[in-house]
Amino acid sequence: MKDLKKIKNFLLDMDGTIYLGDRLFDVTPKLLDRIAKKGGRAVFLTNNSSKSGESYLQKLKGMGLEVSLDDFFTSGDATAITLKQRYASPRVYLIGTPSLERQFLDYGIELVKDENDIPDCVVLGFDLTLTYEKIRIGCKMIAKGAKFIATHPDRLCPAPGISIPDVGSMIKMFTEATGVVPEIMGKPEQTMASAVFERYGFAPDETAMVGDRLSTDIRFANNSGITAIAVLTGETTSEEIAASVDARPDFVFASVGELADEI
Ligand SMILES: [Mg+2]
Repeated sequence: MKDLKKIKNFLLDMDGTIYLGDRLFDVTPKLLDRIAKKGGRAVFLTNNSSKSGESYLQKLKGMGLEVSLDDFFTSGDATAITLKQRYASPRVYLIGTPSLERQFLDYGIELVKDENDIPDCVVLGFDLTLTYEKIRIGCKMIAKGAKFIATHPDRLCPAPGISIPDVGSMIKMFTEATGVVPEIMGKPEQTMASAVFERYGFAPDETAMVGDRLSTDIRFANNSGITAIAVLTGETTSEEIAASVDARPDFVFASVGELADEI
């Protein structure tokens, strides 16, 4: 059994883990307090590449939490950091929101606009501004040999009323048209953990992922060799955890409040 007392760095999923929709769980400040008191670090981790850390910063500040921009890490960050590791000066055709474009530019990534150019890769993000023109150009570049990368695999994004199509659904269209399956950067892939370690200098044996979803959060922790902590305040039930074979949490807590008592 892994030792929770040894964990210093906590990667926290947000929706279903520290809040639900717009309602902060009243035990969340207790966890953040406890992490700070033991000299640890909390990083909020999300697969949503349509927004930058700034949007989440405003949301959490609005909920009364003391957080700073460097506490947020998205699959957009994971993608940009990984591309910077792989290419001396990455050239990318980006299918993403204006916010993701700004993020990539801030990382010093060149965004290719000319459709006759062949970039190192075509990156597909959660593009709420997707157009047929972007789809056509992206497919053309992939067909001509640009590598196909997607920020994360989620099929749907939770939204009030009914969930909306996310990157996983868009991937199907690009793969259908080109025959190419993308490399995924976000949870549950280990790539996201490598990018986190690169940015924050965390050691895997001192790091845990805390989340409510087996297929992303817990599989991400298992794939990355970090401690996996499931909470029951979101999507997953204890029955599903008991029945799960390919995603195994090291610890299960009713909420992050119970977790706070054990670290
Ligand atoms: Mg969640």
